[in-house]
Amino acid sequence: MSTETPKSVVIIGGGLAGLAAGVDLSRRGYRITLLEKRPFLGGRAFSFDDPETGVEVDNGQHVFVGACSAYTQFLHDIGAWGNVRMPGRLEARVIRNGETSWLRASSWIPGSAANLPALIGYGHVSLVGRLRLLYGMLRIRLARRRPGGPLEDETFDSWLRRHGQSDETISRFWNLIVLPGLNDDIKDVSADAGLMLFQTALLGAPSKAAIGYPVVGLSRLAGESAASFISRNDGRVETSADVAQVLFANGRATGVRLESGEVIRSDAVVVALPPSALLAVLPPEHDDAGFFAPAASIETAPIVGVHIWYDRPVLEDRFVAVLDSPLQWVFNVTRMHEKETEPDGQGQHIAISLSGAWQWKDRSKAELREIFVAEMARVFPEAANAEVTRFITVKMLDATFRVVPGAEKYRLPQETPVPGLFLAGDWTRTGWPSTMESAVRSGNLAAEAVVKHLSANGS
Ligand SMILES: Cc1cc2nc3c(=O)[nH]c(=O)nc-3n(C[C@H](O)[C@H](O)[C@H](O)COP(=O)(O)OP(=O)(O)OC[C@H]3O[C@@H](n4cnc5c(N)ncnc54)[C@H](O)[C@@H]3O)c2cc1C
Repeated sequence: MSTETPKSVVIIGGGLAGLAAGVDLSRRGYRITLLEKRPFLGGRAFSFDDPETGVEVDNGQHVFVGACSAYTQFLHDIGAWGNVRMPGRLEARVIRNGETSWLRASSWIPGSAANLPALIGYGHVSLVGRLRLLYGMLRIRLARRRPGGPLEDETFDSWLRRHGQSDETISRFWNLIVLPGLNDDIKDVSADAGLMLFQTALLGAPSKAAIGYPVVGLSRLAGESAASFISRNDGRVETSADVAQVLFANGRATGVRLESGEVIRSDAVVVALPPSALLAVLPPEHDDAGFFAPAASIETAPIVGVHIWYDRPVLEDRFVAVLDSPLQWVFNVTRMHEKETEPDGQGQHIAISLSGAWQWKDRSKAELREIFVAEMARVFPEAANAEVTRFITVKMLDATFRVVPGAEKYRLPQETPVPGLFLAGDWTRTGWPSTMESAVRSGNLAAEAVVKHLSANGS
């Protein structure tokens, strides 16, 4: 057994990126100190207790597809896989004007062809439209993406129109997936990001397109389990630990200073923060400022969550998409959390997730209540007969980074020119849009870079 003192790594940020880096490095024997500014872990994926009812509410409904291999592995590693459900294939009900159609992959056709029936059988698009969808999917399969290539500068909407798509297929199929998947309208995302989404999820094995979801609140799912993992491996996880600055000496990162004045020295520092917070913790004057500067150009997009509790069940599905309606995607939290009813003995908790929510972010709670309670009653007959027992909204103004044309060049790699300083965060260069998968991948990539650096320096 080695008698050497393990090398120490400070990780700033207790979101999924920082937690993933912490878990990966703990497992490899490094001594971790993870510092999170807020009193809880999870970053942009957290849950809180509703002050009135005590019920646990997520800051936003989080789902993931089977193609999210790093996130899936992370959940396995921290012992949290039992708290999510992942069906074997894509299955989602879509409602339009009171009619239902399904986006449903076949359970008996093998390989990626299993997803074709989801397009062929999609009744909200005309027959000609479905042929267009098949053609579009073929062109997506053939499309070659490359870093810095022209697809990063075109919108996905324009690319789809150049490849046979119409207003009908774009609004009823493509944007139904792009808007929640990339948290922006199809007219605002790059063709590269749109193609990535469909190539990764819909053109692989059927399990890759399946939609998984947690059955517990987000903080319990990942934050608490990852922190226990790090602590069990002799690491330290501190919440309410606001880092003021990364310390540099002789051009190297040597530790951090907290707002409290405490200084923590380490062999390496991983900054797992959103871009604006990263720039705030770097020393004002340093030789490599130019390397970090592009991060300032990364934009963010809002998500608004509308939570309605009804006095009785109003929806059978776990989740359902609604076309030609402000509802977008509606989640039955009670059923997803495998409960018959809410704790008061009756009723259902419904979460409406509004992506790319520019239109909703400045609306008052009263306005949102009027619009969304009425819309629920219009679309779901049971909701029209039910009483609303509680209504809250959760506005996340900087929910995700935007994948607008030209934005990819602002994403930084995990390895920096400053020895001992590494980056993580969903926005760093992972090849994925702003997702839990991207956050975990970034943490793993940063951990790999730390190991390479510290091994080269005599660990
Ligand atoms: C409403 C909503 C819905 C979403 N839905 C989905 C979804 O369905 N599927 C999906 O895959 N993704 C979804 N996402 C995106 C996903 O949550 C993020 O991509 C992911 O959580 C980002 O993790 P991160 O660790 O990169 O960043 P963050 O979660 O932002 O973590 C950064 C952490 O750093 C901390 N911090 C900041 N400054 C300091 C400092 N000075 N010192 C110490 N700590 C500091 C912050 O408090 C934060 O905890 C959603 C996001 C939101 C907001």
